[in-house]
Amino acid sequence: MFDTLSDRLSGIFSKLRSKGRLTDADVDATAREIRLALLEADVALPVVKAFIFRLKERARGAQVSQALNPAQQIIKIVHEELVAVLGGEARRLQFAKQPPTVIMLAGLQGSGKTTLAGKLARWLKAQGNQPLLVACDLQRPNAVNQLQVLGQRAGVEVYAPEPGNGTGDPVQVAKDSIEHARRHMRDIVIVDTAGRLGIDTEMMAQAAAIRDAVNPDEVIFVIDAMVGQDAVATAEAFRDGVGITGVVLSKLDGDARGGAALSVREVTGQPILFASTGEKLEDFDVFHPDRMASRILGMGDVLTLIEQAEQAFDEEQKEKMTAKLLGGEQFTLEDFLDQLIAVRRMGPIANLLGMMPGMGQMKDQLAELDDSHFDKVTAIIRSMTPGERTTPKILNGSRRARIARGSGVTVTDVNQLLNRFEQAQKMMKQMGGMMGLPGGGRRKA
Ligand code: GDP
Repeated sequence: MFDTLSDRLSGIFSKLRSKGRLTDADVDATAREIRLALLEADVALPVVKAFIFRLKERARGAQVSQALNPAQQIIKIVHEELVAVLGGEARRLQFAKQPPTVIMLAGLQGSGKTTLAGKLARWLKAQGNQPLLVACDLQRPNAVNQLQVLGQRAGVEVYAPEPGNGTGDPVQVAKDSIEHARRHMRDIVIVDTAGRLGIDTEMMAQAAAIRDAVNPDEVIFVIDAMVGQDAVATAEAFRDGVGITGVVLSKLDGDARGGAALSVREVTGQPILFASTGEKLEDFDVFHPDRMASRILGMGDVLTLIEQAEQAFDEEQKEKMTAKLLGGEQFTLEDFLDQLIAVRRMGPIANLLGMMPGMGQMKDQLAELDDSHFDKVTAIIRSMTPGERTTPKILNGSRRARIARGSGVTVTDVNQLLNRFEQAQKMMKQMGGMMGLPGGGRRKA
């Protein structure tokens, strides 16, 4: 699922990597490519248009973070817009104030309704509920039997018309099932309804009649994520014909392009509640828009990194450092340690430092710093007196030997650290200079 879209998007993003800054022309070109990628993934045109409009507006706007390079900025926006298209926050099932809660399933034949009924029943039971499955699909041969098998597997009772009475009235079955649930203390009723291969008025009328008979708390529209552009028409028909309150995407395990998944939320205006990812009862979970968006981008690591970079190098810290440089103050060993700690907070991905303002230049030095190195450096700096930390020049041979003993390292380690620090200090001076200060930022405040 989404493989092609993921590949296309990462190709588009990688072209941005070499850019220092995004011009409007870059934004336009990128937006055009993303538009094509979405259309090829079968996302509905109005959804694509709205998506691209927001993307352009935000990418051109000033609200981009300084902690990120252009590629990361675009990835971040695309990710956030994908999350929005998929519905933002995950939404939970709505339960009735007075049990039983009634959940009605609707959708085309073969969309995965009956399977979903079993999955949902199993899931709700695991949450401590006492669900009842109701077989109102009396059209498809074998649907009742299929539900009974699934119910047995899920350990959930199935309410169905008496055998031999397969042509019974689904509306009556639905009505009776609510009574049955009340009498048997079932707190959730899941009503499986009939579907057709295409949308037809008779099926819609039956679904609406069942809805009126059971007054559901949720009407869940089940849609096969493998259907392409048809998804929109189907979703609209169910929205208008039955009135749906939520969507479940089924067959997300397939290798289809995934357009339905990305369109259905905007088209129906209703949230995606669950995702079905296989034929087994366990292949089912609450739908999380942010996780799905990350999966589509296929770059969970990069997204985490972006988040962490923003956190690790927060505004406050940046301002402190800038003020220091502008004020021409000394970059001390304490500052060096602070920066190392900020970078270390980012975890093992600290070598991807190109995106951090200022830190990019310390990349080479930091790249050699694995955890054990880092602990050593921390120990060395902590073994120094405050005077030594601010004025490392006074560190003569005997002081260095003392520090080495105190921190359990060799004198060579201490020397190496001091050399490294000296280089960093030089860089900081140059940066002060780049910020437009005479004398390389050495002006005293
Ligand atoms: P219904 O006609 O809407 O009730 O659809 P069914 O529940 O009978 O499902 C139709 C077919 O799709 C069955 O063969 C199911 O095993 C299969 N199916 C349902 N959900 C999924 C899913 O999430 N992934 C896969 N791969 N197959 C599914």
